[in-house]
Amino acid sequence: MKMIMLGAPGSGKGTQAARIKKHFGVPAISTGDIFRKNIADGTELGKKAKAYMDRGELVPDEIVIAIALNRIEEDDCRDGFLLDGFPRTVEQAEALDKRLADRGQRLRFVLLMEVPDVQLAERVTGRRVCKNCGLSYHVAHMPPAEEGVCDSCGGALHQRNDDREETVKNRIGVYNAQTAPLIGYYETAGILKHLDGTKGPERVFEDIVKVLTI
Ligand code: AMP
Repeated sequence: MKMIMLGAPGSGKGTQAARIKKHFGVPAISTGDIFRKNIADGTELGKKAKAYMDRGELVPDEIVIAIALNRIEEDDCRDGFLLDGFPRTVEQAEALDKRLADRGQRLRFVLLMEVPDVQLAERVTGRRVCKNCGLSYHVAHMPPAEEGVCDSCGGALHQRNDDREETVKNRIGVYNAQTAPLIGYYETAGILKHLDGTKGPERVFEDIVKVLTI
């Protein structure tokens, strides 16, 4: 099962990717997480990516494509994977299709999380993420049992640098300009599945299970 989560910042991609990973046992690969890990580790890649991320811009295609395509070559991806946050441009999508086609494979599903723009900024600025395991919460809609502490692993919650108000508007604009064209791209390919991301996380996940178990 090879699939992609598509959706604007704050549409719930990461939350649903974690659930899909747990339920279906597929590796969930977030290019954003790979960059954040590199930033935390102080690598050259992390230094390069940070400048773009802090401005809410996309990291250049040639960098992201190499990272994502290498990652899906790893052993755990042999039977399937879920990409969360890749591709984000038509060029990235074409590179992924080409790599899969070279191996006689193709994408099975693209899960599009639909949330109106007006709700996105509030969802992103209220997001808090576990520093340890990466699980996402929301201060109002999905708070942890104990403030600032991850329910799952007890790690400390924090706000991502690029989830601050100044950056979020830019990220949503970048999504609409550079990533939204992928909706037409995958619709044409006949693999796009629309999901109403405004429902609560449980209901959205039920809808995803229905789509994936057809
Ligand atoms: P995310 O965690 O998916 O919201 O990604 C955080 C940031 O990482 C994005 O705003 C981009 O700056 C960068 N990034 C992650 N994935 C990609 C991608 N596929 N293409 C370009 N930049 C990306």
